[in-house]
Amino acid sequence: MTKKYKVALRRASSYELDEVYEALNFTLDAIEEWIPSRFLFEKLLLKVNLLAPKRPELAVTTHPSIVQALIKVARKKGHLGEIAVADLPGHLYADRKEELLRLTGMTGAVEIDDNATATILSDGGFVVLRRDENVVLKELTVSKRYFEAPFVINIAKLKTHAETEITACVKNCFGIADTSTRKRAHFSLSINQLCNAIVDLYLARPPELNVLDAIYAMEGNGPTHGHPRFVGLIMASKNALALDFVAAKVMGYKNPLNIPLLNIAAKRGIGPSSFDEIEIIGVEPDEIEAKGFIKSSSSLRLLPTWLRGWTHRWVALSPRLREEKCVKCGICADVCPRKAIRMDPLPRINRAMCVKCLCCHEMCPTGAMEVHENMLMKFLRM
Ligand code: SF4
Ligand code: SF4
Repeated sequence: MTKKYKVALRRASSYELDEVYEALNFTLDAIEEWIPSRFLFEKLLLKVNLLAPKRPELAVTTHPSIVQALIKVARKKGHLGEIAVADLPGHLYADRKEELLRLTGMTGAVEIDDNATATILSDGGFVVLRRDENVVLKELTVSKRYFEAPFVINIAKLKTHAETEITACVKNCFGIADTSTRKRAHFSLSINQLCNAIVDLYLARPPELNVLDAIYAMEGNGPTHGHPRFVGLIMASKNALALDFVAAKVMGYKNPLNIPLLNIAAKRGIGPSSFDEIEIIGVEPDEIEAKGFIKSSSSLRLLPTWLRGWTHRWVALSPRLREEKCVKCGICADVCPRKAIRMDPLPRINRAMCVKCLCCHEMCPTGAMEVHENMLMKFLRM
């Protein structure tokens, strides 16, 4: 029986450019007509993950070697148009564009090609979309550059996420939204609301192709403060959810539908709802799991999927300040969607207002805003 979705994988032992190029070339060759010839003269947008100005070896951002290899593969395929490499980091980092692009290695990555540039997605402004078919974000403001790009390649990083458990290709599309849309997505206590908002953003303009950087992934409490973990894989697919299904298997999930984001995405029909629909190419399916991969400590993982939406308030991880690591920068207060943090002079959290979205943890530059497990969570772990 022909399977509806294809996901190609190739092992790579390092970020050495020749090896990454070979692996990427293999995965893209395995996907039929990954860039149709009518796009060879069009602009190509590589939507990377540039969450924060961090060095590539910390595994927070897409590695520049993947970007360089993709530019080389596209040129070999005959692509002649302009190539832009871009993301929209947490809004406070958007003001530090040069530092962000330099530290993450994107400035250097595009130097191999005269017609490639690195930038941030807010350059060029935003468009406001009205989408009544969306579940949470009926109105959303997204990057104009992304929305109008003729061909988008989504190059995500495989990471854990303290709230959504996994961040890979579907979640990477959250980075197209402006700050206000992101805050509205995080506004509710319900994890289902956040996951639906992520899918709303994905559906605003799905990428044509998806690549996942899983040579070094992030394990533990990602997406910013987890730990790099060697996995040794590059993955590609035309369908983001199919790729995330296989990525979940790499992380050790037996059933990806136990991850609320993938469950909701599957129910909304953006991709497969079981492995039966996915053809895995390049690595034997029973050999792709990264043994001993440390998942996020999201309590939600310990509950049946149907219980997760409304139990979030009682069992979710919450932010807790480690005072000695705090530099009083105020970023946590700025990103909080509920205005639950007041600087005095250290950040003080109003627990009654906090919805435990962990944006403050995610964007804290020093790791001072840690995640804390409550008693029920600890009990569930026993
Ligand atoms: S907790 Fe982190 S983000 Fe908040 S003020 Fe301290 S260092 Fe800055
Ligand atoms: S204090 Fe932190 S976890 Fe709570 S709502 Fe604000 S950003 Fe989210």
